[in-house]
Amino acid sequence: MRVVLMGPPGAGKGTQAFLIAGMLGVPHISTGDIFRANVTQGSPLGIEAKRYMDAGEYVPDGVTNAMVRDRLSRDDCHAGFLLDGYPRTVEQVGELSAMLSSSAERLDHVLELTVDLDEVVSRLVMRAAEQGRSDDTEDVIRRRLEVYFEQTAPLTALYEAQGLLVRVDGLGTIADVTARIVAALGIEQ
Ligand code: AMP
Repeated sequence: MRVVLMGPPGAGKGTQAFLIAGMLGVPHISTGDIFRANVTQGSPLGIEAKRYMDAGEYVPDGVTNAMVRDRLSRDDCHAGFLLDGYPRTVEQVGELSAMLSSSAERLDHVLELTVDLDEVVSRLVMRAAEQGRSDDTEDVIRRRLEVYFEQTAPLTALYEAQGLLVRVDGLGTIADVTARIVAALGIEQ
């Protein structure tokens, strides 16, 4: 199964993506995690990405698309994948569809986790305290949400028009939300 998981920062995408990818037996591909791993390693990609991440901005499409193209071309993605945090721009949507159609593949579902804005802000502030992520300061949190609502939220309409979009309420316990996703995607357990 090929699934894209969308939703604002703090919606719980990472947690759910990890669990759902495990159930589906497909790799969980988080562009944010790949960028963070590169930042930790101090690789050229990490040095480039960090400037944008720390400001709450998106890493340029050219850099992000090349990274995803490389990741999806690996053998473990043949049977499917769960993309977490990609695509996030119109250009990335086009690039992903080009990557898939070049190998005669298509997405099965685009899952949008919906959450209340106040809830998201309080989750992000809590995560900042727990994990100390350098992009979880209040100003950067605000900017990341703005960028999401300007650039990424409108993309769901593109997937809705293709009949791929499934919306799931992201409010509640981790187990509640997982159960909703399992039902919405028709995952057999
Ligand atoms: P995340 O962990 O998914 O919230 O991503 C953390 C940060 O990594 C984002 O705020 C962006 O700076 C960068 N990033 C992750 N995914 C993308 C993407 N698809 N396009 C551009 N930047 C991204």
